[in-house]
Amino acid sequence: MEINIVNMFPEVLNLYGDRGNIICLQKRSVWRGIKANVFEYTLGANQEILKDADIILLGGASDREQSIVYSHLLSLRGLIKDLIEDGVVVLAICGGYQLLGEAYIDANGRVIKGLHLLDFVTKAEGKRLIGNIIIETSLDVFPKTVVGYENHGGRTYHNYQPFGKVLKGYGNNGKDGFEGLIYKNVIGTYLHGPLLPKNPHIADFMIKKALERKYTLDNLEFQKLDDTLEYLAHNRVKELYM
Ligand code: GLN
Repeated sequence: MEINIVNMFPEVLNLYGDRGNIICLQKRSVWRGIKANVFEYTLGANQEILKDADIILLGGASDREQSIVYSHLLSLRGLIKDLIEDGVVVLAICGGYQLLGEAYIDANGRVIKGLHLLDFVTKAEGKRLIGNIIIETSLDVFPKTVVGYENHGGRTYHNYQPFGKVLKGYGNNGKDGFEGLIYKNVIGTYLHGPLLPKNPHIADFMIKKALERKYTLDNLEFQKLDDTLEYLAHNRVKELYM
């Protein structure tokens, strides 16, 4: 088996080590004998790379970087929409998550257009929401906890399934107690860290979904890996901050 992982604009969308998510997905695939090809979709890249994607990552970015990249992503909107509707796995972090919505209105009231693939708007208001975050995910995985770090000015409100319930931290807006978003095989979240190395169950969920879609499998038997170190990190965050 083989999967294609596409990292969108890694030179711009890479806050707090979001690239670590790619390394994690690649390693966990290879450790199971699955060939994992990683493509960096940089400015001017060939759209063919995206067409064959099984997993797409959109990392986080500062407001300035977001506005640069949004304008380039707009031309790919139709293609990304088709891929999402077809069940391609997408991990969109913070600035990348906001980009899935209609717009991000920054702290100066400037409107940065989003791809409007999903129906929501994000608005920066008040103080930035910064710190360690722990959620209980709505995904069918074990453990249910997901740990990470958030730093965003934007507040996101939506009616989609959330990625999880906030146990510690702020999440989508610091008010309604929800974090992130799930739509088909898209995970939108404010969790940096990077997210996946400390949450290997989420990485495996993504790889499994990608393979099941690609090879039309129902319930793929997935080889277990030794995650002692990964869960030491995961549980340490819970001990310290929950
Ligand atoms: N610039 C956005 C905000 O502050 C996203 C930040 C991020 O990706 N960490 O809300």
